[in-house]
Amino acid sequence: MSANLLERIGAGILKTIRTIRGTPDPEKKQYGRGYEPLPAPLIRAFNKQRPLGPRRLLCYAPFKMMYFAFGGEVIACCHNRRNILGRYPEQDLMAIWKGSAYERLRDFIRNDDLGNGCEVCRNLLMSENFDGAKNALYDRYEEGGWPLTMEFELDNRCNCACIICNDLFSTQIKGDHERSNPYDSRFAEQLRPFIPHLKEAKFYGGEPFLIPLYYEIWDLMTSINPDIRILVQTNGTILNDKVRKLLKKGRFSINVSIDSLDAERFEVIRKNADFRTVMENTKWFANYCRVSGSHFGIIPTPNRMNGYDLAEITRWAGELGGRVYFNTLITPLELALWNLPPPELRNIHSKLSGAALPSGTPAEKANLRHFRDFLKQLQAWAAANEKMPVSPMKTALTRQQLSATKALFLQRLEHSLREKPNRESLMELFHYSLSAAAGVRNSDLVYMVLDKIPIQEIIAELETGNRDRVTLAAAKKLFESEGLYKMEESVNE
Ligand code: SF4
Ligand code: SF4
Repeated sequence: MSANLLERIGAGILKTIRTIRGTPDPEKKQYGRGYEPLPAPLIRAFNKQRPLGPRRLLCYAPFKMMYFAFGGEVIACCHNRRNILGRYPEQDLMAIWKGSAYERLRDFIRNDDLGNGCEVCRNLLMSENFDGAKNALYDRYEEGGWPLTMEFELDNRCNCACIICNDLFSTQIKGDHERSNPYDSRFAEQLRPFIPHLKEAKFYGGEPFLIPLYYEIWDLMTSINPDIRILVQTNGTILNDKVRKLLKKGRFSINVSIDSLDAERFEVIRKNADFRTVMENTKWFANYCRVSGSHFGIIPTPNRMNGYDLAEITRWAGELGGRVYFNTLITPLELALWNLPPPELRNIHSKLSGAALPSGTPAEKANLRHFRDFLKQLQAWAAANEKMPVSPMKTALTRQQLSATKALFLQRLEHSLREKPNRESLMELFHYSLSAAAGVRNSDLVYMVLDKIPIQEIIAELETGNRDRVTLAAAKKLFESEGLYKMEESVNE
């Protein structure tokens, strides 16, 4: 019996046990003062759909997970980058794991409040996109006081310059982000006490197979605890003897980023990658994972160039026995889908929804579900861009409330900037970033979200002076605000 089949049976049993055991009724839960729990019906609906059954907490990431980001920041997961829980090398890893910032985030989650940097999950849950929400990803494994999963984003060394990427993630792209890399062999040594407890470790780049420190960490992991499921997110360009030798030593899972099966389009998007090489390598990785019984995935990033390719990629991933997962591209704005006018989004939706996708194997079934969720996402974007109500659980606002919040926020911002000699350029950057991020949308809802962020954090972002970076931050806030709020008038329209 394959490892994958055993895991699926195990997951099914776990789900049944957890469903029978049930969870405390959120309606009767006692919450601490000052927290803003999600609505009880939403928690109940989410719990019903959790792949591993209902759970007591909305998310287990801060109880089981450490994520090491570029620059030394330690966070609970990649969707909550605002809430930095510690920094390497200023703090050592054990002190971070046991520290007060982690404990505070755990308290928020214990109180069903996803407001401490977890807005991405909160918005997806509020839009009832339960499959897209990331919090159920950490339901696996019982807590035991140690991190069970670690994710590594230590270095942006890369051989590609994809048009959907930026200089933060690839050394091949020129930009004005200054990047110092604090990670070194001492970091690998500090991982030692954690490694015997780890179940999973995920490695991102840049391109992971080009990052020397990763080989040090993989050596440690495969020698101390060869059972760790190590996942590498690769662009598929590197498969040499060193990589083949490494993969034989551990239990590696592989995700390959593939955006098109059309060679020309692929090479335009994945600049510097050779389509034929990537295809050959991808098949080799798929076969390696099949034989080792490990996970194999294909990760397309839907954008304005490959919208119509996505059904074909989904079908092909299933043929290789792989799972397909769709990335969400927020920037560059001129390539993103989320900010397209509704007729264009509907056009992509209608062409894709006509695709007949197979659902014979478990991988194909999962892929079909992910594909349908992506279609739902297209519809949600189209609806948001038309200012149609998407979810009845969003907070409805009157125009007066919104205008008052906006006026007060701008007053606060101007007041806080009054002593700064460059206040005019900071205000100019603030307005520029909002309108660049907004595109066809009305950006005013964003003030509801901005109003909740400490003003010094916003000023610090503006003071980077980096237009792309600030626009990206504004786009995320805008996206967040649309998941949380709607105009009251639209309910009656
Ligand atoms: S709720 Fe979402 S954003 Fe927050 S820690 Fe969990 S997975 Fe991360
Ligand atoms: S392969 Fe990945 S990290 Fe490298 S440029 Fe492309 S998207 Fe960026």
